[in-house]
Amino acid sequence: MEGFSLKYISTRGQAPELAFDDVLLSGLARDGGLYVPDGWPVFSSDEIAAFRDLPYAKLAFRVIRPFVGGTIDDDALAAMLDAAYTRFYAPDVAPMTKIGDNEYLLELFHGPTLAFKDMAMQILGPLFDHVLKAKNQTVTIVGATSGDTGSAAIEACRDRGAIEIFMLHPHGRVSDVQRRQMTTVQAPNVHNIAVEGTFDDCQNLVKAMFNDEPLRDRLALSAVNSINWARIMAQTVYYFFAAAKMDAGPVSFAVPTGNFGNVFAGYGAKCMGLDVDQFVIGSNSNDILTRFFESGTMALGDVHATISPSMDIQISSNFERLLFDLLGRDADRLRATMETFRDSGQFSVDNKALESAQALFYGACFDDEATRRTIAEVYQASGELIDPHTAVGIAAARAQRRDAKTPMIALATAHPAKFPDAVEAATGVRPGLPNRMAGLFEREENCDVMANDFGTVSAYISERAGRTA
Ligand SMILES: *Cc1c(COP(=O)(O)O)cnc(C)c1O
Repeated sequence: MEGFSLKYISTRGQAPELAFDDVLLSGLARDGGLYVPDGWPVFSSDEIAAFRDLPYAKLAFRVIRPFVGGTIDDDALAAMLDAAYTRFYAPDVAPMTKIGDNEYLLELFHGPTLAFKDMAMQILGPLFDHVLKAKNQTVTIVGATSGDTGSAAIEACRDRGAIEIFMLHPHGRVSDVQRRQMTTVQAPNVHNIAVEGTFDDCQNLVKAMFNDEPLRDRLALSAVNSINWARIMAQTVYYFFAAAKMDAGPVSFAVPTGNFGNVFAGYGAKCMGLDVDQFVIGSNSNDILTRFFESGTMALGDVHATISPSMDIQISSNFERLLFDLLGRDADRLRATMETFRDSGQFSVDNKALESAQALFYGACFDDEATRRTIAEVYQASGELIDPHTAVGIAAARAQRRDAKTPMIALATAHPAKFPDAVEAATGVRPGLPNRMAGLFEREENCDVMANDFGTVSAYISERAGRTA
């Protein structure tokens, strides 16, 4: 892999090619597309076998280094990774537990905010800081959250001199744990805004800020939402890490899916040489992806509220990255397809594309009752408490598994204590927060409640973003 130099191209083919550092800072491509590498770095099976002996941060260095393409020097990258993954509260960073016959749970929730978003965010913060300092720039990160992303982004960016972060959440519509994980962070560069409206209102305010070009340039707006390439890159690591713990031969993964970021990272690992048999995609009642993998048609529906709220999504933004490959990396076709989707709320792919998707991806969806049943079953059989998102993935794995001899690794995306009501309803046991978070409900909150009004919110942000500028 020595000398491997990688560039990033937009799925829609009309934005400039960029190197890693600019892709990191830009998030979305200027043509509305998503950045993807112009080719995947590939590891030999011997290299992958040798990953077995590496601790998480060292393995992360091997996997991430080719993506960075020389824009960050090796020592600095290795030091950032070492520091990021010592902030996880499990000796292995991502421990594995056996929950059934050749069935494993990969625990990705031992980071500061108890959801798998930390796995990538904890390295995204330092990467941003490093690249900004090298370029002598500062940024204003603005984001909208319905819960898990906001706290993970705030923990990743807190106390970083080159970043000012503003997180919008819908007032009164996130759980107490989720809100307090954001509002009790005491850091001068962290700003919480509770918008009197819904998550979509928050999202629209953020979009309106990005669409206001003078404002965007003046504040140097940037995003760390799940379309940021660096998050995908960082998530490919744990697929290698988990597979390396198994005996040689293929493995399968079950992934509870919303924005398609997590499972796309798994697909990336496969493109990089990992021997994967199946990716099983679990959906809650928002089953747009399941229907796509059955029929080849993606058709928008209404968003339903469920007990796995981080997957209450209709538009899976990262799916565009897979679609690009399914369409033979033809940016013109991709662009036409996305235009059809925007105008009519649906699109279809041809049989060839559908068959290649079906060779690898298997979807299944479950309502809240089935989700609770799975939480109960796993608890009774293994003694493990799992959160509702994880349960959706496990249920899908059990429904779609095609070969019991292939290890099935289910990704545990949140700590059960993040969703205590659902877990208690299913098992009778109320999962407790880890000790380190015991003070969460005593700490002082910092948050300003604001009308759902562009002028008010953008003035507030403009005023405070000046600190670093
Ligand atoms: C974000 C999230 C998901 C969905 O992940 P995607 O990358 O959006 O598919 C699943 N579970 C939990 C707990 C999450 O926070």
